[in-house]
Amino acid sequence: MPTVYLNGQFLPLEAARVPVMDRGFLFGDGVYEVIPVYDRRPFRQEDHLARLRASLDGIRLGDPHSAAEWTALIERIVADAPWDDLGVYLQVTRGPGPRDHAFPRDIRPTVFLMPLELPAPPPALIEHGVAAITAEDTRWSRCDIKATSLLANVLLRQLSVDAGCAETLLIRDGQLMEGSASSVFLVRDGVLLAPPKTPLILPGITYDVVLELAAAAHMPTAIRALSAAELRDADEVWITSSTKEILAVTRLDGKPVGNGEPGPIYRRMIALYQTYKHTVMRGKAAP
Ligand code: PMP
Repeated sequence: MPTVYLNGQFLPLEAARVPVMDRGFLFGDGVYEVIPVYDRRPFRQEDHLARLRASLDGIRLGDPHSAAEWTALIERIVADAPWDDLGVYLQVTRGPGPRDHAFPRDIRPTVFLMPLELPAPPPALIEHGVAAITAEDTRWSRCDIKATSLLANVLLRQLSVDAGCAETLLIRDGQLMEGSASSVFLVRDGVLLAPPKTPLILPGITYDVVLELAAAAHMPTAIRALSAAELRDADEVWITSSTKEILAVTRLDGKPVGNGEPGPIYRRMIALYQTYKHTVMRGKAAP
């Protein structure tokens, strides 16, 4: 059974308990991160911890730990994990208190870390892509905060599960935002297009990696608002996340994207990404 961390203690997952009055349980009053770890080496940990701090700021909760303390907690979770590749899930809630929407005084945050199994994206998905649907974005207007209150994301993701698809792409006021649990990119006329970071999307760490790799490879790129119409007739559509890495969307709302196979720019980017990932992992050679 995996070892988890809860408020100062390392213990087996089944032994970890939080009080029912925890505001994470009552209100979803908390934030979280998932840090991918390959060959027991965290990938982009500093970026994830910076986004955690931004999320904590966004909900007016002080960071309970220094960067060094977070690093030590993550190291222990990774060392005790039953897998070499994993995700470190970490969550901070405002903690237990009387049930009142307003913040109680003298409340101590709840800090929880656990390892998650992180299977590599199946080669068939990289080779052939995935299907997605679109839906109206029903989330709130602070999607830049990685909040544990994920009800809209849960309902939106389930729409794609019900349709036998891998992701739901979200449209707000006619503009493409992101997926229910992923960032989104388009390719049109050879140009890689990404929506800008605004409070209406989560600033994806993989999104940053993709744009860095595109810049280093001198790929034509534009960061600008993208319309649902541009999504509909894009040459390529990609989704990215720390757990999915980069996947081509080859069917959208039941119709093929481009010729229905991952496009040439996708193939170039996934190769760059895999090389970069293996370089970061140092120990392992690129395939
Ligand atoms: N947007 C949303 C809504 C997400 O849940 C995720 C997954 N964390 C992403 C984008 C992608 O972010 P990242 O690349 O940091 O995993």
